[in-house]
Amino acid sequence: MTVDPMARAEQNREDLYRRLPSVNEILLAPEIQKLIQAYGHNRVVTAIRESLDAIRADILLNGPPAEALDREIGAIPGRVSEVLQGGPDYSLRPVINATGVILHTNLGRAPLSEAALAHLVDVARDYCNLEFNLESGERSKRDVHAEHLVLRVLSVPEDEFPRWGVVVVNNCAAATFLALNTIADSREVVVSRGELVEIGGGFRIPEVLEKSGAVLREVGTTNRTRTADYEQAITEQTSLLLRVHQSNFSIEGFVERPSLKELVVLAKTLGVPLFEDQGTGLVSHLDPIGIAGQPTLRDSIAAGVDLVAASGDKLLGGPQCGLLVGRTDLIARIRKNPLLRAFRVDKLTYAALEATLFEYQAGTKDALPLTRMLSTPAEEIEERCHAIAGSTKSARVLTTVIAVESAIGGGTAPSARLKSYAVSIRHPHFTANELLKKLRSYDPPVIGRIAEDAVVLDLRTVPPHMDETIARALEML
Ligand SMILES: *Cc1c(COP(=O)(O)O)cnc(C)c1O
Repeated sequence: MTVDPMARAEQNREDLYRRLPSVNEILLAPEIQKLIQAYGHNRVVTAIRESLDAIRADILLNGPPAEALDREIGAIPGRVSEVLQGGPDYSLRPVINATGVILHTNLGRAPLSEAALAHLVDVARDYCNLEFNLESGERSKRDVHAEHLVLRVLSVPEDEFPRWGVVVVNNCAAATFLALNTIADSREVVVSRGELVEIGGGFRIPEVLEKSGAVLREVGTTNRTRTADYEQAITEQTSLLLRVHQSNFSIEGFVERPSLKELVVLAKTLGVPLFEDQGTGLVSHLDPIGIAGQPTLRDSIAAGVDLVAASGDKLLGGPQCGLLVGRTDLIARIRKNPLLRAFRVDKLTYAALEATLFEYQAGTKDALPLTRMLSTPAEEIEERCHAIAGSTKSARVLTTVIAVESAIGGGTAPSARLKSYAVSIRHPHFTANELLKKLRSYDPPVIGRIAEDAVVLDLRTVPPHMDETIARALEML
């Protein structure tokens, strides 16, 4: 009987393939376990698959004799280690935010939507029409990419568009500085003593005013300022009324300040522009998720402020940037300020901002990670916590599910809390601080907090597809 040589080679290859270990078998090797500690489960599995694919390709091409195959199998952990060590050792790394603080400034504030990421990659991979008019073939301005979209999202009627303009800068701090520098310029700015605040990161309104060249004219007291106080302070020297949103603190009790509408009326009567540092960039009210009283950009525009500044990466849920929305004449002056050249944003920011605003316009703002995190029902988070706690039964750690409260953070809505749930973790041999440190050493690092001597992981700020990664991290504690 003759055997077809092709069939024999095929049979030989099949035998060799069968002798390859599975990914799970390789994962048990002690060297591989060490690599998982250092690089994380996902990256190790990917590297193992790549090694196995390389061996399969080798068999296909060369059909190595049996002893060469054993050598190659034995070399897998070394190869996996090489692959992992060869990867770039970036300083900036993705982390899992299990603190429950949604806009965590130290962890990068608002995560971007899939659409924003896709648009950003698309625009950045090659050239784009950043300052180029595709119709005329001539030079244009980068501002055009956001202007109409911002106005539409802020519910400005189309027929009023010619009266409004939009400028995008690096952040809200830059927006406020630029507005004051342009409009106040060595004249007086009237502001309530209750609004001479520090926004965070050393950004203090009185100091910013001074640096911008404006002269501060304080009115009222810390807890009470009335419309009449503003009125009495206005002179020939007044350039601007300034309203600052008290975004990162709240005072209770004997407190009074004019409504935005009252200030608008006063400013119009006296012929002085009203500038509001709105800060949070919130577009529409948060009442549906139980957070009342947060001022919105739509309210500011509808009330008739002349100019408003807001942040892009707080409650707007977009990239870091600062928006200035205002009367055409004021925006025109800001555009002429040479400092705008120093504060302007790049194509990546425009791309991410545009895609974020599109979600609002299309009525799909639930696609923004920020909206999703804000509106996830507590029961859903509780279920995920139980799944993680249940899957770590075999581990040494003691896990329980506890009720907690998530915060919005980022210097916004300081007293607002959202009901949430967390996995609480204790260990017979490690303190909570040691556990936190171990969790930070995984890839991606897991960032939690401590409450009552236990590590607490609030899943409100964790994307559900990361639950499994957290469960595995807990098993390795
Ligand atoms: C957050 C905030 C700022 C600063 O915004 P950035 O975008 O972080 O620069 C300014 N003003 C108010 C009222 C704020 O809440």
